[in-house]
Amino acid sequence: MSGAEQRRPGGGFLLPSPASADIFTPEDYTAEHRLIAKTTEDFVRGEVWPRLDAIEVQEDGVAEELMRQAADLGLLAADIPEAYGGLGLDKASSALVTEKMGMAGSFSVTHAAHVGIATLPFVYFGTEEQKQRYLPQLAAGDIGAYCLTEPGSGSDALAAKATARLSEDGCHYVLNGTKQFISNARWAKTFVVFAKIDGREFTAFIVERGMPGVSVGAEEKKLGIKGSSTASLILEEARVPVENLLGEPGKGHHIAFNILNIGRYKLGAGCLGAARLALEEAVRYAGDRVQFKKPIREFGLIRRKFAEMAARTYAAESATCRVVGLIDDILAEVDAADSAAVLAAIEEYAAECSIVKVLASEVLDYVVDEGVQILGGYGYCAEYPAERLYRDSRVNRIFEGTNEINRLLTPTMILRRAQAGKLPLMAEITAVVRAAAAGDRPAADVFDGLLGAERALLARVRRGILLAVGTAVLTHGEKLTGMQELLGLAADMIIEYFAAETAVLRAVKSGGGDDSFAVLAARVWLAGACARMLTAGRELLAATLSGDELTRLLAAFEGFAGFVPPDLPALRDRLAALVIDRGGYPRI
Ligand SMILES: Cc1cc2nc3c(=O)[nH]c(=O)nc-3n(C[C@H](O)[C@H](O)[C@H](O)COP(=O)(O)OP(=O)(O)OC[C@H]3O[C@@H](n4cnc5c(N)ncnc54)[C@H](O)[C@@H]3O)c2cc1C
Repeated sequence: MSGAEQRRPGGGFLLPSPASADIFTPEDYTAEHRLIAKTTEDFVRGEVWPRLDAIEVQEDGVAEELMRQAADLGLLAADIPEAYGGLGLDKASSALVTEKMGMAGSFSVTHAAHVGIATLPFVYFGTEEQKQRYLPQLAAGDIGAYCLTEPGSGSDALAAKATARLSEDGCHYVLNGTKQFISNARWAKTFVVFAKIDGREFTAFIVERGMPGVSVGAEEKKLGIKGSSTASLILEEARVPVENLLGEPGKGHHIAFNILNIGRYKLGAGCLGAARLALEEAVRYAGDRVQFKKPIREFGLIRRKFAEMAARTYAAESATCRVVGLIDDILAEVDAADSAAVLAAIEEYAAECSIVKVLASEVLDYVVDEGVQILGGYGYCAEYPAERLYRDSRVNRIFEGTNEINRLLTPTMILRRAQAGKLPLMAEITAVVRAAAAGDRPAADVFDGLLGAERALLARVRRGILLAVGTAVLTHGEKLTGMQELLGLAADMIIEYFAAETAVLRAVKSGGGDDSFAVLAARVWLAGACARMLTAGRELLAATLSGDELTRLLAAFEGFAGFVPPDLPALRDRLAALVIDRGGYPRI
């Protein structure tokens, strides 16, 4: 992929950033990428938005018809190989479809569940016959669902109770159990269902709606995304032909976790579409709304919100795009027909996928919350989209692995890679911690050119993270995996750093001037992120050490991560002026 970074291993962003570090950015999208993004956006604005009210009440036939229309435009087919009725596009294309669909309210969940968790198990784990049979239907708009969660097992998915047993004639598996919170359950024709053969071997099955013993429960009454279907799937002596076993018996966890992994960066992409929309709506309203004889967009505290909403969206967008680029690059090195190699390649960046999931879902919650605030009382009422955007956003922190689970996974996966020698980080951690304990200060990093001071700051902060996280690793050893609060602090630092490094590298690559949107957004994000990393690192060290040792390492940490903040009110005001001028988040 043009413009992609020299491929660093998974977690490699914590290694020193090369002077000419390059990353894949939205500015690198090709004409084909832009075309599929435009096709999706036109579909959302032209076909979905006029039917939003009907979607919200799940009016009969509306979601199904929209899915058929989306299929006709190829918007369900990006990840499906051409041999099975798909388009076989790169991950940047499919992420762009998901991003633009993010503006489609509840319909975005119907679409995302279908093209992601409901379709990808067939792409990566189906037999030739299963792919031939199911993928063309899924590409054409026959809706699918993915059934992992149960009433008693959510995050702890492997504790599922649903069972499968081979029938006496050996022709069927007989499934029993209930799957909970299943997106698309109301209208799905195929369900990828996880159950344990003989109560032991966790396995995936392809279940069709019409099979005997299969039924769907009542719709959940939800806080948001009301127009998406969420219901239980009930299996009572359901008879599933043996050829519908997906993957291998006892290997269902490979399917469950790998598919969720891909879903995580896609969820990030979807959040971006919604965040852009929330900002656009807020800017429009603030231009019209007059208080104290001025449009409210002229007030400093409203402008501050625009700037923060834009800077945070910029950070999330940059991070999502970078990860998609990394995945496309590594996929270019493997045979697309070799599913195991494809999945191993995507797994390389599993920590980055978790980072994007947490970052983008929390940025979106921030943006929609400020969106409501900018509209005041009207933001609280259903007449304006801000109210729905606020409610719809919240679920993103819950599904595709809760943000707590993804926070725990982020440092754990990176440290495991480092300890297994897949990421050359342990030697550096040890050196940084030893030097700090001995009172040695490394020479300052120097970067020339645009945002040189910010890159130098990032280089110091990176050492600060290695010091704080490394101290916890070296002090607690294996016990750290059970110390959730400490892992959470480590995750917070790592997530903030990934987003900050990415935003700055993107702005450098953009080559814009000091007053460009990219440079202002990157500087605003960086200042906030550094302040948050400083707090988290101090907390992490204080939870790990005490006495003189703590004092010494805190001083070293603050030498790395301490910084003189820029004039943030001035930076934000300049950024807000650009946002107002462009009517929202700028289009690429
Ligand atoms: C609208 C909607 C659509 C969904 N669609 C689907 C779907 O299509 N298919 C599907 O299979 N599932 C789906 N889900 C289920 C979703 O994936 C689960 O809700 C999610 O995984 C969390 O599980 P849970 O709700 O059982 O919460 P729990 O796992 O019970 O978690 C409750 C709280 O405890 C925390 N927690 C749990 N374990 C730990 C731990 N080890 N350490 C620290 N904190 C922990 C969680 O982070 C959370 O804050 C959907 C859910 C919703 C709300």
